[in-house]
Amino acid sequence: MAIYAMTGGATGIGAALKEQLREQGDTVIVADIKEGDVIADLSTEEGRLAAVDGIRALAPDGLDGFIPCAGLGPHFGVHSTVAKVNYFAVIATIEGLRDLVEKRKGSILLVSSNSAPMIAADDPFVQLCLAGDEAAACEYVDSKDGHTAYAGSKRGVTVWMRQNVKDYAANGVRMNAVAPGITVTPLTEAGLKDEAYGQSMKDFAAMTPVGGSAQPGQIANGMRFLLSAEASFICGAVLFVDGGTDALMRPKEF
Ligand code: NAD
Repeated sequence: MAIYAMTGGATGIGAALKEQLREQGDTVIVADIKEGDVIADLSTEEGRLAAVDGIRALAPDGLDGFIPCAGLGPHFGVHSTVAKVNYFAVIATIEGLRDLVEKRKGSILLVSSNSAPMIAADDPFVQLCLAGDEAAACEYVDSKDGHTAYAGSKRGVTVWMRQNVKDYAANGVRMNAVAPGITVTPLTEAGLKDEAYGQSMKDFAAMTPVGGSAQPGQIANGMRFLLSAEASFICGAVLFVDGGTDALMRPKEF
């Protein structure tokens, strides 16, 4: 049976994936700010180190997969904290656990969003993220809106994944990303109540081609597939699990 580690497994999409993997007999180590095997605040450097060290202590023989799933929504008040959790913690934990995933020729699955293409790849915030300049990215995004922080951090992790696929694959590690659409989780529930973002989130959910919002398990189904041996030739892919919304928004692109 496989051994996985993830961040953000306390609630929502991460919790659904954790349950599905445990149901099929796999071991899942969770690092999260709320609840898990390792309690860590990924917005801080100490928290990232605690997550990496805690996971390393629990999986000394390596990991079949790592899923940095923890994230904050666009409505979260402090934009730099969104950048820290959604981008910089994702890269720091992947890099900190890389050798453990290499040991078992495992797979890394990033969590993007179907909002990632809604910001230009050359946006200064995305570029500062990709340059690894946390201080400058945080300072810049604090002067911008929540959409820039959220979509920009998700675009950032997706582009980072694609830029690093070759290097990781050379050491036997597949990297992919899932791009969920609006999913019924605590993050979304808080966003729907938000004055600035609530209405646009409702409008976004209303236009989903297959109708409505996803349940966390529907996103986890796609994630479980990307982690599995059945996906052994899938590498560098971004799987949109969004009921057709990305196709609707960008009909001329792929
Ligand atoms: P959620 O709020 O249910 O889960 C987020 C998890 O991250 C929680 O377990 C939370 O405790 C953890 N977390 C938050 N801040 C943290 C911190 N500082 N340190 C450690 N852990 C922290 O939300 P969700 O919707 O399940 O989100 C999971 C992932 O899916 C996120 O990366 C999110 O951006 C992404 N996503 C969600 C949607 C959606 O509509 N819900 C859509 C696209 C992408």
